[in-house]
Amino acid sequence: MNYCSQCGAAVTVYVPAGDHVPRHVCTACGMIHYRNPKMVVGCLPEWQGRLLLCRRAIEPRRGYWTLPAGFMENGETAQDGAARETLEEAQARVAIGALHSLFNLPRIDQVYLLFHARLLDEHYGPGSESLAVALFDEATLPWDELAFPVIDAALRLYFADRRAGRIGLRCGDIVPDETRGYRVRLYPD
Ligand code: ZN
Repeated sequence: MNYCSQCGAAVTVYVPAGDHVPRHVCTACGMIHYRNPKMVVGCLPEWQGRLLLCRRAIEPRRGYWTLPAGFMENGETAQDGAARETLEEAQARVAIGALHSLFNLPRIDQVYLLFHARLLDEHYGPGSESLAVALFDEATLPWDELAFPVIDAALRLYFADRRAGRIGLRCGDIVPDETRGYRVRLYPD
């Protein structure tokens, strides 16, 4: 950020009095421009035991598979956002269920909320941000072609918990790791 969105003057970065984090502060009107993590909302859309995944048509990670998910919009609920993203990316209508997982991605300032979901019918297809959309079970899922570590983590937990008959929210962090690039740090129940 170089200019104030309030008045157009230049901004500088410093820790305001009483604060503990450097902020973009307007040199003219004094407006403090806070920048906070973004919420990414999505779901695990299930149809007869399989999950609907989308192959990305856009960067980053074009050509890789992901769950329907995207940035939450102002004025909508997390559940509505997850259903909207599923309609946009997979042309699929879903009933959103319980929260499946919450992942913190502090390195890129995002928080993922992924919900259980059920397809309302067998209609689905690629939206403008998808190259393809398909249903997978655990054996056929393209594990080596998943777009993001958080999606890999959520899917692995989903199938492991389903096998074990475990129901309940999963919480974790996706954090950098020197050898593997990233690792998942799960919170205890
Ligand atoms: Zn200003």
